[in-house]
Amino acid sequence: MRIFDPHIHMSSRTTDDYRAMAANGVQAVVEPAFWLGQPRTSAGSFTDYFDSLIGWEPYRAAQFGIRHHATIALNPKEANDPRCRSVLNLLPRYLDKDGVVAVGEIGYDSMTPAEDEAFSVQLALAVEYELPALVHTPHRDKAAGTRRSLEVVAESGIEPGRVAIDHLNEVTVGLVRDTGCWMGFSIYPETKMSPQRMVEILKAYGTERMLVNSAADWGHSDPLLTVETGRELLAAGFTADEVDLVLWRNPVEFYSQSGRLDLTSPAPVATFAGSSIARGGG
Ligand SMILES: [Zn+2]
Repeated sequence: MRIFDPHIHMSSRTTDDYRAMAANGVQAVVEPAFWLGQPRTSAGSFTDYFDSLIGWEPYRAAQFGIRHHATIALNPKEANDPRCRSVLNLLPRYLDKDGVVAVGEIGYDSMTPAEDEAFSVQLALAVEYELPALVHTPHRDKAAGTRRSLEVVAESGIEPGRVAIDHLNEVTVGLVRDTGCWMGFSIYPETKMSPQRMVEILKAYGTERMLVNSAADWGHSDPLLTVETGRELLAAGFTADEVDLVLWRNPVEFYSQSGRLDLTSPAPVATFAGSSIARGGG
């Protein structure tokens, strides 16, 4: 089983996670820009973070033979902080970079006017830079947030096939299915969405335009839940080809629209023990 995790925050994970992911078939990841737990207090904090997402983190992933790409954006939560707004002016510089395969995560957290503006501005950037967009749906009031997100996406003029609406569940998947947008699901250990529930959703809605991720981040999460979902799908009678479609070919197709997905060059051998990271300390 080969796995492409289309949404995982590796900056918050350890090298043990990378090792376990590689050992279980995770060969490629996309890391969306998001918050840091502790609120940022200046735009400079984003600059360092974005540089890390396109420089340091791909290098760290490569030690384990994992391909790493990023999406860049001002996240919905921090769009509400006036100290962070000027990040919007920094984005064009990053949206030009090779390792950046989408604008994201954008969308809504609390559905404020500031979030409205950041969302629209960044969808316009996705159109301008010919990149897909990764849209986060709020964890509270999810159905209303998803509906409103779809309206904003439609108004932006971006082609629906270039948009993934993420963190969906049984209630919201039906809202997205007929829009032409891709449907993303984040599998968590206890809350929100489990591998078993994901199996039922794929039985009900099919495998087309479906994306499954672990969204692993600072909170209680598990970077192997994509693998676990694959195993549950096989146990439930899905074919190996269907599992490969959902866990590999779908995310490849979605992010390939950036024209920048690089899965072809040979991955470095996992030489972490002898790498400069191990020697460098810190
Ligand atoms: Zn995320």
